[in-house]
Amino acid sequence: MKKLIAANWKMNPASQKQAEDIFNGIKEGVKGVAVEVVICPSFVYLPLLKGLTLGAQDMFWEEKGPFTGEVSGAMLKDLGVEYVIIGHSERRKYFNETDELINKKIKKASETGLKVIFCIGETAQERDAGKKNEVLEKQIKQGLAGIDNLENINIAYEPVWAIGTGNNCSVENTKESIDFIRKFVKENTRILYGGSVKSDNSGLYIKEAGANGLLVGGASLQAEEFIKIIKSAE
Ligand code: PEP
Repeated sequence: MKKLIAANWKMNPASQKQAEDIFNGIKEGVKGVAVEVVICPSFVYLPLLKGLTLGAQDMFWEEKGPFTGEVSGAMLKDLGVEYVIIGHSERRKYFNETDELINKKIKKASETGLKVIFCIGETAQERDAGKKNEVLEKQIKQGLAGIDNLENINIAYEPVWAIGTGNNCSVENTKESIDFIRKFVKENTRILYGGSVKSDNSGLYIKEAGANGLLVGGASLQAEEFIKIIKSAE
């Protein structure tokens, strides 16, 4: 299966000009690469950026109506967006997203024909309490409850303690978690790793930990660095 390298720009950069510059830099550098590259910018930049596959960082579970501030999957689809990140730990933490709510979003995204990057991962506290696998199992089972067709679902294993900290998960531990997650999904479901990925560690996750791709935050905002990460997955 083709590797998937996705950029999560989070609430960055601060201007349209900067977003276009980073995007165009990446676009130039990835011509002809053999991996699938997806850029997930802020909603407001989605209509501006053309020439690479786009993903949103979230969506709402209803199609339209009185939900002030929300964006629907149908709106994303209409813009030509192909992917959506659902269940990112920052949304779980700052917006109180529960597994039940995440499940509603994944269901709606699948119905709408969007491909999902479904994020799961344990906190440092859960890891230290020996609860990692229990947490991962609960997040997967509840997040995917009632969803039989996993064709458009990708899982991103993102230990919360590794995100944006520079403290990336070891290859051995990542492999152990990916093997564990594999038990709950299909053989051809892509399982990505995310958490402080840089060009000097990215290849290891693909070649040694068995990841089928990467979800990259901070390092995806520097075109040159992100291009190196993409090429390390080839
Ligand atoms: C992320 O936000 O999904 C992420 C993995 O961030 P970072 O690469 O900055 O740790």
